[in-house]
Amino acid sequence: MNRRTRRAMSKGKLKKLNDVTTQVENAIANMPKKCTKCDKDFKMSDKDQLDDWNIEVYLDGTVKLTCLMCTKNNSKEQTK
Ligand SMILES: [Zn+2]
Repeated sequence: MNRRTRRAMSKGKLKKLNDVTTQVENAIANMPKKCTKCDKDFKMSDKDQLDDWNIEVYLDGTVKLTCLMCTKNNSKEQTK
């Protein structure tokens, strides 16, 4: 039986989680205020928009904001 615990590994995981949190915070700070596709204004205060709009965060810090209409059009293309 190998009883050795891999503490180093779990520490590594924790650090990664923190990095992701920082990335998300940066992403929110850099968040576009319009739909990336059709330039429709995004209102942070509008709860419906917060639910419906699609927010994609990429590892390089790029944030793509897509309104409900464009998200629908996108999924149509993909499920052709
Ligand atoms: Zn749009």
